[in-house]
Amino acid sequence: MAFPPGFLDELRARISLSGLIGRRVKLERRGREHAGLCPFHHEKTPSFFVVEDKAFFHCFGCGAHGDAVGFLMRSENLDFIEAVERLATEAGIEMPRPSVEERQHAQKEKSLLDALEAACAYYEGQLWGPGGRAAREYLGSRGLDPETVRNFRLGWAPSDRGALSRALSREIPEALLIEAGLLKASEDGGAFGYFRDRILFPITDRRGRVIAFGGRVTAGGEPKYLNSPESPLFQKGRTLYGWARAAAALRAEPRRTPGGGGRLVVVEGYMDVLALHRAGFPTVVAPLGTALSDDQIALLWRLAPEPVLCFDGDSAGQNAAKRALRRALPLLRAGQSLSFAALPAGEDPDSLLRASGRTAFEEVLAAAQPLWKVLFQTELAALPTDTPERRADLENRLKAAAREIADAGVQRQFHRELMRAFNLVTRPPSSVRRPLAGKKPGAELELPPPPAPQPQRVQRVQREMLFSILLRSPELLGEVAEELCALDLREAELDTLRSLILETSRSQPGLDAQGLQQHLVRCGLAATVERLLKRSVDSDVLVRKSDGATARRAWDHVIGMLAAGGQRGLAEVASGILSEDSPESWQERVLAARERLLRQPPHIEEEGF
Ligand SMILES: [Zn+2]
Repeated sequence: MAFPPGFLDELRARISLSGLIGRRVKLERRGREHAGLCPFHHEKTPSFFVVEDKAFFHCFGCGAHGDAVGFLMRSENLDFIEAVERLATEAGIEMPRPSVEERQHAQKEKSLLDALEAACAYYEGQLWGPGGRAAREYLGSRGLDPETVRNFRLGWAPSDRGALSRALSREIPEALLIEAGLLKASEDGGAFGYFRDRILFPITDRRGRVIAFGGRVTAGGEPKYLNSPESPLFQKGRTLYGWARAAAALRAEPRRTPGGGGRLVVVEGYMDVLALHRAGFPTVVAPLGTALSDDQIALLWRLAPEPVLCFDGDSAGQNAAKRALRRALPLLRAGQSLSFAALPAGEDPDSLLRASGRTAFEEVLAAAQPLWKVLFQTELAALPTDTPERRADLENRLKAAAREIADAGVQRQFHRELMRAFNLVTRPPSSVRRPLAGKKPGAELELPPPPAPQPQRVQRVQREMLFSILLRSPELLGEVAEELCALDLREAELDTLRSLILETSRSQPGLDAQGLQQHLVRCGLAATVERLLKRSVDSDVLVRKSDGATARRAWDHVIGMLAAGGQRGLAEVASGILSEDSPESWQERVLAARERLLRQPPHIEEEGF
């Protein structure tokens, strides 16, 4: 629907954003802002802010950002129009009147939905009637109880090809039943039931309205699964089985995963969805018998930032998971990914739950691997890496995979992480306990240990350097905002500074260094700004060559040092540099130190080589 100019602005102006958000999040007033625990990720101290006079919210923890419409879309899983409708009702503003075309379209949609609903009720009646006995027995043999079957509104399409038509065509025109994919036109001008002799799983849209069916044979017969044909209401690649239920369950469930948001499980088939529901995992969806599409991945991310793919433990299932990984790669964004749970070979979620119960499945989910790691292991296992040329090939493939990621920040992180793992496994065999010799490649991949705690002072200085760089080159913000948001700041002073810098960059885009510094001074941070500008960043270099590239190099070096906290060499060198009094700029000194480190011969044990 097209909104007249100004409509959305009026809506935003009439709604109290803190009031709207305050119903879901306990907000505390802090100056001109409200702060609270972010509803979109798990946290213990508030990094979620509502800026009432600018009508937006922002989370410094997970980057969630938007206005009232965006908040409703995210927190209630509504689409744009639905969120606008909700707000309009609340604000007492009348929605714009739909055009004639829009009214006709809505009318058509309603008749199709009515036809599908009538068919769904008819098929349900058939399943529970005398003709559905064999189908009921089959479902029982698959471990489904009557409650789940009723809850999911399963049905039975009899083998009589005229049955549906006879039952519905007095009320509903045949042409409409054909358009809804319920009947199929025959060559003699008649029409017959599209589904015959099958158990039917109603497929709903995001509001839970029936838009199609998936049909499964009970005995022999081909194909094993058959979906409704595509229709104006139903596009297979844009629909997920179970989405509406999962969305409702996620709304009810406390946000509990470490990455933020609720836990969403993606399985391969309808039966898996039902089995998981029955076992108490209601936040589960399945694609409709095809590989996950871009649209479906986007739908998953509307529900949870890191859905867990739990495909069957056979080679078909594993290949489907790898295809999904490749598909998701270009779409990854900060805080938004997939993870991969590996079922025991030969099991699917249904069979595992039946054989080993809920706990076993919980364990499978808890052991889910992040996307980058699965990517690395897949590439590592694809070809041997026993010669320099083959290792170079692996390196190329890993770099190429990272380049597929559109988001620059995520791409950089992937590149770094993949190369770190690559360097680890391609060290000369004797120094890494021969991870590849005679073993399944990748089976023994050990990740580098987490960074060891380093002298706090060094890291604090490094964090301050980052702000020092930003104060001089605020134009960097566009590129490094995500890294800035992700910084683990222990100093309240820096935390405040970060909030202000980010807020300023939004409200006054294009502000230069002087403007930013003055603004911060006016906000009461004069002392902080002055101290940071004295920080050992060589101001001359940045002033003299205050081009973005220099500032960016400086930023990357310091971020690199922070990230390399565990790599003793670099951190020690950095610490030395910071305490040194030297005429060289610190960037030059860091670069030189890096060079020295890189030139050092790697630690190679010659034995057995
Ligand atoms: Zn958040």
